[in-house]
Amino acid sequence: MFTLHHGLWIYFLTRRHAQVWQFVAGSMLPDYVYFLMVGLMLIRGQLNFSELISLSPQIMMFFLPMYPWVVKIDIIGHSVVIWGAVFILTLLPGVNRLQAFVVGWGTHLLFDALTHGAYANPFLYPLSLYAVHSPVSFWEPAYFAREFNIVNNALMVLMALYILYEWLGKKYRK
Ligand SMILES: [Zn+2]
Repeated sequence: MFTLHHGLWIYFLTRRHAQVWQFVAGSMLPDYVYFLMVGLMLIRGQLNFSELISLSPQIMMFFLPMYPWVVKIDIIGHSVVIWGAVFILTLLPGVNRLQAFVVGWGTHLLFDALTHGAYANPFLYPLSLYAVHSPVSFWEPAYFAREFNIVNNALMVLMALYILYEWLGKKYRK
């Protein structure tokens, strides 16, 4: 799923929780490295500011061979094994303050597992490079990306309207 879509979904699902912003920040964690990559691409002239709006996974894939360390960090961040090890750490006193953040990170892996087709993440890394390919993808045309985005965009518009409705309701009652 697109990075910001992860954030919106998790904001909607955890908005009544005191640690909502930890969940939201965690839900986008494995993709932050791509913001860094886009920044470097802009500095190096591989990308113009005017192209930012039409930036697609296809374009990112084209440039990825020039950024092997991004691929490495992407795989680490999308590993259920590594996430699981960090989650176990958050059961310890002191570290448990970060539990909502790590749970948010976990939702990213779950949503990605459902929305990556041919380019599925090797979720058992570093134990194995095995991947499960979802029949649906958020960007691969051969995996119903068009249909997925029609449904997902419609749901996100409804969520945004509902959040606005709640927000206005709260304001009105004051
Ligand atoms: Zn991801």
